[in-house]
Amino acid sequence: MTESSPRLDADSPLRGARILVTGGAGFIGSHIVDCLAPHADVRVLDDCSTGDRDTVHEDATLTVGSVTDRGLVDELTETVDHVFHLAAIPSVPATLDAPTRTLDVNTTATAYLLERAADRDARLVFASSAAVYGRPSQLPIPESEPTTPRSPYGISKLAADQYVRAYGDWDDCDAVALRFFNVYGPGQVAGVIPTFLARARAGEPLVVHGDGNQTRDFVHVDDVVRALVAAATTTATGEAFNVGTGTATSVEELATLVSDLAPGSVPVVHDDPRPADVRESCADTTVARDELGFAAEVSLTDGLASLVGRTLAAD
Ligand code: NAD
Repeated sequence: MTESSPRLDADSPLRGARILVTGGAGFIGSHIVDCLAPHADVRVLDDCSTGDRDTVHEDATLTVGSVTDRGLVDELTETVDHVFHLAAIPSVPATLDAPTRTLDVNTTATAYLLERAADRDARLVFASSAAVYGRPSQLPIPESEPTTPRSPYGISKLAADQYVRAYGDWDDCDAVALRFFNVYGPGQVAGVIPTFLARARAGEPLVVHGDGNQTRDFVHVDDVVRALVAAATTTATGEAFNVGTGTATSVEELATLVSDLAPGSVPVVHDDPRPADVRESCADTTVARDELGFAAEVSLTDGLASLVGRTLAAD
């Protein structure tokens, strides 16, 4: 838990509820489990392929297995009120290596969970991604932006996101898709921020790919937990909402921020650009604010300062 960790409202319908969190041993999943487990009957389904069983809150029950195992999913959804579905093959490179399995895990398993949630009258909240937009034609990116993903990851998330939005038209199902932008925070192991922090910790230069002017919308995991909780209780179902801050930060600016916060001075150097890297990304947060009642609260400077305090100053 962090200083900004969200707390469940005293009258939250999630209190005392039966909740399944898939991917609950992962980075984001373990944070939503930390928020819910002291107050609800939380079960976690995770194959621990990228997640770590030791991060699962002691009050939650972990089942190690795959979301593609329908017998297990049947068992875990036998009695359930809410499903937070975060399990996925979570990176573009991993999905490029396994495009067919990507559909099984990221898309078909989502469709099956929707069937089960509909059978049980349970709410399902799905971890979608800004990757569904591919190369956006406008910034900030509204939810109405055409979706043109080019990677197996983005395509699999978009197909699942469409199932989530349309499912309520075919069956009695309350489901919401949240399109996370670049999430960061304690416990994250992959991504540009943990990489910069690890290098700063080792006193090594921070390597920026390309000119560093590529931008991202970095959103703190505590804000993502707030968005997940809001989505679990909103009346605006059958929708997808952006989860970002609405602020674009260049990778160069990020590297400078980390370098300035690190106790020792670390230089910022440049390397070859990454092929097929999205140039600019930033959420339009209007719809999430107006319809979901969600707005990010943690600034990148505060979020990074707290992370640097945890990971670097401890040395
Ligand atoms: P993560 O890798 O830490 O978490 C994913 C979890 O899913 C892991 O614990 C992994 O072991 C588990 N998993 C993978 N395949 C599984 C399977 N077949 N059955 C059961 N469990 C399985 O990643 P994260 O960053 O916490 O991402 C959580 C979700 O949010 C993912 O769906 C990801 O696509 C989505 N997302 C994340 C970001 C981000 O910036 N971190 C951005 C957009 C979307």
